[in-house]
Amino acid sequence: MIVVKVGGSAGIDYDAVCADIAARWKNGERLILVHGGSGETNRVAEALGHPPKFVTSPSGYTSRFTDRQTLEIFEMVYCGKMNKGIVERLQRLGVNAVGLSGLDGRIFEGKHKDSVRSVENGKVKVLRGDHTGTVERVNTHLIDLLLAGGYLPVLTPPASSYDGVAINVDGDRAAAALAVALKADALLLLSNVPGLLRAYPDESSLIREIPAGDVATYLEFAQDRMKKKVLGAAEAVQGGVKRVIFGDARNGQPVSAALGGQGTVVS
Ligand code: ADP
Repeated sequence: MIVVKVGGSAGIDYDAVCADIAARWKNGERLILVHGGSGETNRVAEALGHPPKFVTSPSGYTSRFTDRQTLEIFEMVYCGKMNKGIVERLQRLGVNAVGLSGLDGRIFEGKHKDSVRSVENGKVKVLRGDHTGTVERVNTHLIDLLLAGGYLPVLTPPASSYDGVAINVDGDRAAAALAVALKADALLLLSNVPGLLRAYPDESSLIREIPAGDVATYLEFAQDRMKKKVLGAAEAVQGGVKRVIFGDARNGQPVSAALGGQGTVVS
């Protein structure tokens, strides 16, 4: 089993990702796709007059402040436009894909975090009314049913809180938790960069290999949102996933290239 997470940043070629996945799926490989949608969510939120607000925690992690209205816009884009766009591409390629959020069948579950600490002008503020959390549990029953029936699952945040409330969760870490729960052979984290760069944005500074035990020490090279990917990779390898690859989804055959060792390989 391979878990492929494709991001939501500008430049990602979803046609290339879907064509590659479809070819491999038809060859008998079992895959699950998890996707993001941050770039499009930002655009739609601006257009709807509710611009995105990002907060940086005291430990340096950036996340989207998700009030109820933001959550609804987030669902429109992630579960609607992005998810159905990917499912349609796969259907056109002859793959019977099914798109679900982590809320459906409680595939992704975690604690609802109502407040977040945010560093603003050097001061720490507490913001309430946040609908976020972290995936702590993956309920694989529905996924197992789909796979047994020959369907390719296409999954996206939000997740469900233990009380059934929709929560915005990081897609990379959700994919990592899924890869652990399914005992996946590999987790691919595909984005609009060649992999983890030692000196971002210099693409020639690509880090090619990271020993599994050392991955957390590479957090220092990752800025803002790349940090969550490195954290997700650390969680996946600690949970028993043999290989995590940060790969490039801008063109070519993104899944095959990553599985062939291009990008940053954590093993
Ligand atoms: P996605 O939505 O595609 O999953 P993110 O935007 O969350 O991806 O994270 C990828 C982004 O992280 C890259 O587009 C890049 O701007 C940024 N980044 C920060 N530090 C690094 C780094 N050291 N190497 C590669 N990318 C980095």
